[in-house]
Amino acid sequence: MEDYLAKAYAFGGTVRLYAARTTGLVYEAQKIHDLWPTASVALGRLLTGSVIMGAMYEEGNELTLRIQGDGPLEGMVATTNASGEVRGYVGNPHVFMQGKDKLPIAQAVGNGEMHVTKDLKVRDIFTSSIKIQSGEIAEDFAYYFTASEQIPSAVAIGVEVGTENDIQHAGGFILQRMPGCPEETIQRIENRLSSLPEITELLRDGHSPEAIIQAIADDDHQLLHTMRLSYTCNCNRENFERGLISLGKQQLKKLLEEDGHIETVCHFCRTQYQFNAKDIRRLIDATQRNR
Ligand SMILES: [Zn+2]
Repeated sequence: MEDYLAKAYAFGGTVRLYAARTTGLVYEAQKIHDLWPTASVALGRLLTGSVIMGAMYEEGNELTLRIQGDGPLEGMVATTNASGEVRGYVGNPHVFMQGKDKLPIAQAVGNGEMHVTKDLKVRDIFTSSIKIQSGEIAEDFAYYFTASEQIPSAVAIGVEVGTENDIQHAGGFILQRMPGCPEETIQRIENRLSSLPEITELLRDGHSPEAIIQAIADDDHQLLHTMRLSYTCNCNRENFERGLISLGKQQLKKLLEEDGHIETVCHFCRTQYQFNAKDIRRLIDATQRNR
């Protein structure tokens, strides 16, 4: 089953409701980063919330979400766009904490801040920050939308791992109220959400993104379209070369003399890029040309 997102308007067109299945991309993240169970769920939730959020912005925009918490996960990062591509990493992938009946994600995240950076490409880069609310991720997204963007939102994200650290299912939804939503509709939405089963339960029952939307809004919704989601990293050797050039001539000379080669690793996909002595000399030349 492939990952995808369904977009809809619901409740008489007063809310937008985006639901997604992200099992495959969370599995991909787990494989790339060798995530242990607690890290799988935490990063899986961040990737899921981020990719749904990314779909709410315009094409070409890039969003980066950073969770800087003081817990054992040592922070997490996710980058996404409006085309359903997401990638991310966690400071410490080898976290496995057992709680009473579930993995204590909030404890693993810790206290700190969540930073949201919007790169609107043609215009500017904006970063807004909030204090981590619960560390359960979904609540933190909801608080961000309400506090930073003044858009009342409900967010639910579920990632479940099995006893073998296998990703059973992952997904979620974001519901956002548009301005001018009548009071009785707000009440109706709240009632629906409070009687809705937990998102993990819906996913466990095999609910597709469309079925999640149906469970929330009944027939009072209009599906707009669906979009494929994937774990995609767009790194390349040229980006790393530019990064090395920016270290400057002195630093590169030092690396050339001390090690004779440079090995860089992409944080997002773990691809390695090797630079031998000849490459480094070429980069040193490039720093002079850039003067
Ligand atoms: Zn990469």
